[in-house]
Formats: sequence, structure tokens, C-alpha cells
Amino acid sequence: MDITVVGAGIVGLATAWFLRQDGHTVTVIDRRHTVGQGTSQANGGQLSYRYIAPLADPDVLPKVPGWMLQADSPIRFQPQFDGAQWRWIAAFVKACNNNDKQRTVAALLPLSLLSQRLVNDWVERDGLAFDFRRNGKLVVYRNAAAFRSARTLIESRPELATQQHALDRAACLALEPALAGMGADVAGGIHTPSEEAGDCLKLCQALAERMTDGDNPVRFRLGVSVDALVCSNGRVAAVRTAEGEWPTEACVVAGGVEAVALLRPLGIDVPIYPLKGYSISVPVTDAARVPDISITDFQRKIVYARLGQQLRVAGMADIVGHDDSLQPDRLATLRRETQHNFGAGVALDTLSPWAGLRPATPTGRPLVDATALPNLWLNLGHGALGFTLAAGCGRLIADRIAMRPRAIPDDDFTLARSTPSGWRARAERAAR
Ligand SMILES: Cc1cc2nc3c(=O)[nH]c(=O)nc-3n(C[C@H](O)[C@H](O)[C@H](O)COP(=O)(O)OP(=O)(O)OC[C@H]3O[C@@H](n4cnc5c(N)ncnc54)[C@H](O)[C@@H]3O)c2cc1C
Repeated sequence: MDITVVGAGIVGLATAWFLRQDGHTVTVIDRRHTVGQGTSQANGGQLSYRYIAPLADPDVLPKVPGWMLQADSPIRFQPQFDGAQWRWIAAFVKACNNNDKQRTVAALLPLSLLSQRLVNDWVERDGLAFDFRRNGKLVVYRNAAAFRSARTLIESRPELATQQHALDRAACLALEPALAGMGADVAGGIHTPSEEAGDCLKLCQALAERMTDGDNPVRFRLGVSVDALVCSNGRVAAVRTAEGEWPTEACVVAGGVEAVALLRPLGIDVPIYPLKGYSISVPVTDAARVPDISITDFQRKIVYARLGQQLRVAGMADIVGHDDSLQPDRLATLRRETQHNFGAGVALDTLSPWAGLRPATPTGRPLVDATALPNLWLNLGHGALGFTLAAGCGRLIADRIAMRPRAIPDDDFTLARSTPSGWRARAERAAR
């Protein structure tokens, strides 16, 4: 089949990869001039297969008032005259309960483990280079009570006990000597040796380069905006661009936060809202003074990953609409934390700042699904885990299109089951 994929971020590229593998003729369209220039560009670099708990957690709500008063809080909310923002927040608050959280974790874990297998194929079988590292992750707790509760959680889940280890302060410092800078603040940590890291932009570039090679190459149309999906006889017949209408037999929308606007005219109302985050990429000057293991500062919600000769530092979730501008105070927080923790090993005067919009669903579950239009599919809403989940979701959507049994259960990634009630009526109308 001749399939158009809208979006050349990590999700669209992973989609194109598995569709091409199935023998389809694939065209990827993106309004940016090179691949990976949206949210996939400079994210935290964590392939976080076992840390898939969603933001929607009952523990989050009591913390919100404190965060609202704290200038450098990990979450910031700027109310807007925008119904979509309020509708998303209402659905998010509703999802902040243990049932929903457990359901999301149960659905995401097989998906993330599938992704890990597929990413490892990319590395080992296909030789894709993207500063991939099998370096493990250490989640560091500054607060003793939070550490105790993380330790209890591991002890209560035998399937985690073999893969994650609770370490006291001395053991954390022995495992990762570069933590000396924050040593006094460390109450303990949870170490997961099997976690991985890599540069998402480099993976986008490597996938694109490989897909243009050999038989049945994927065609890239970059610097081209899809203004509309043109329907005829209840199917997508073409994509409309400034350069004209390009016919297509089928379409997968993998456009991140921008997909909402593209789908709305078709009556497909996806529950996705941008959660803005920031990163800085800092050259490493003394490798012994920066962490080799990926570090998550649990309390500050900041992640640190070694990517090649750089330290990538990322964090924050700001509910501020579609504004992706660089806010000096948010970047200053990342810079200050990096200076305090690992300043001796990096050149902070030459940092590269970045901001991106996570395409977030209220529950934290992506939408990997067919639609009411028989030749239109969605691969959207990967939130804080798009780099981690892209490979698995690419494979799932290819399975769906091929109408073969899915690699893992995917019911919880359907529009019908992941769409909160406010959205459901419209989604169901569209599904008829
Ligand atoms: C600060 C931060 C840190 C993060 N850290 C991590 C992490 O450590 N690990 C992890 O797994 N995930 C992380 N993420 C999340 C991850 O980056 C995203 O989930 C992922 O990049 C989403 O990929 P995507 O392909 O869906 O979207 P994008 O990368 O945004 O790609 C979508 C593309 O579609 C194109 N597009 C959309 N609409 C149209 C149209 N109409 N016409 C033409 N082109 C269109 C856009 O131009 C864009 O290039 C982080 C995100 C942020 C912001």
C-alpha cells in the first residue's frame, strides 16, 4: 500500500520503519526542513523502560498548591482562555487515582519492553548509531520518606526486585562517584541496571538515512506542511499542502502536539495537550565528574544523561499552551542544578538550551489506533515517554495496518478506551 506518514519525529520515523519492513511504499511529510526537529530534538535521552509511571498519580494533586507557590517548581501552570487546557486538566485530575495509574503502568510495561527489544535490534542488528548506552539508571531521592516508599514498592513487587535495587547513600556514591557534588543531599537511590540512554535526534537521523537506502526507500518530503487531510467517499484520498494535493492510499498521523489541529476538522478529537519541558546540553570537560549512569533527581524531577561528549539535563512540565519559547528562569534552574551537582565536569558557559512540547494524554497512555476512516491511523500522545515507546508503537501500528495479531495487548491504546468522557462523545461520533 502507498502510505503517507505525517510527522518526522521519532514516532513518525519508527512508524515508517516498520511499515517499510512490511513492504509498504512510505512517504514521510514534515513541515520542518530536517527530521527530528519537533519534540524529539533534545529530550532527556532516557530509554526509560521500567520507569513508566504516569504523571497522573494520586500523590501529585496534594503537591500542586506547594508547586504553585514555588518559583522553580517542576510543574508550572499558566491558566489560559482555552477550553482545551481546562478540559485536559479536568481529565488529568480525574486520572489521578490508583486504578488509572495501575492500568497505565500495566499497559505501558509490555509496550516499553517490546520497545527495548526493538531498539536493541536497531543497535545490534542494524548498527544504528545514536550515542546509545546501556548504562543503567539511578533515581536519587533527597527525601528519606520518599526513598522508603520507593524501596517498599520494589519489595512488594517480586518482578521488580530482580531488576531494581535500593541503595543507601554510601552505595549510591560508590556506584556513581560523580554524585559527590550532591552527596550530602542523597537519602538513597533505586538502581535499575537494565535501563538505557541515547540521543533521540541522532536516532531520528540514523533511521531516516537507513530508510532512504536500498530497496523500496522511504520518500521524505520535508519543509512541507500538511494543511488538511482530504476525504472522499469516507476515506482519506489525499494530503493537502501548499504545493498541491498529494494522493495517498492510506495515512498515519504521527504529528505530536500539532496533530490535534489536523484531526479536528475530521471530527477526531484526540485528548492531547502540550506539556512543555526544557533541556540544556552541556559539553563534558572532565568525564570523571559527570555521571556515567543516567541520573534522575526524583524531588526536582530533573534527569541527567551522558550522550557522547555532552551531558543532557532535562526537566519541567509546564501547562502553558503551545508556546515553545525559551523561558530564562526555567533554563536558569537547570543550569543552577547542573552547576551544583556536576559543575566541575562540564562547560556551562557553552550550553545549548532547548524547549519542547510533550504530546501528553491525561492518563499517560498513547493513542495507537485505527479511526472511523478505514485508511487513517493514529500514532500519538506519547507524552514524557515518546523516545522510549516509539519503536514499540511503530511496530503496533504496522501490526494493526497489516491486520495481524498485535505483538502485545494494545486495547488500552485505543481512542475508545483512552479518551476521557469529555472527548468520548465526539470520538464515538467520529467512529460511527
Ligand atoms: C524536556 C523533555 C524531555 C523529554 N525526555 C524524554 C526522555 O528522556 N525519554 C523519552 O522517552 N521521552 C522524553 N520526552 C518525550 C519525547 O521527546 C516525546 O514524547 C517525543 O519526542 C514525541 O515524538 P513525536 O514524533 O510524537 O513528536 P515530534 O518529535 O514533535 O514530531 C512530530 C512532527 O510532526 C510534524 N508535524 C505535525 N503536524 C504536521 C503537519 N500538519 N504538517 C507537517 N508536519 C507536521 C512536526 O513538524 C514534528 O516534526 C521528553 C520531552 C521533553 C519536552
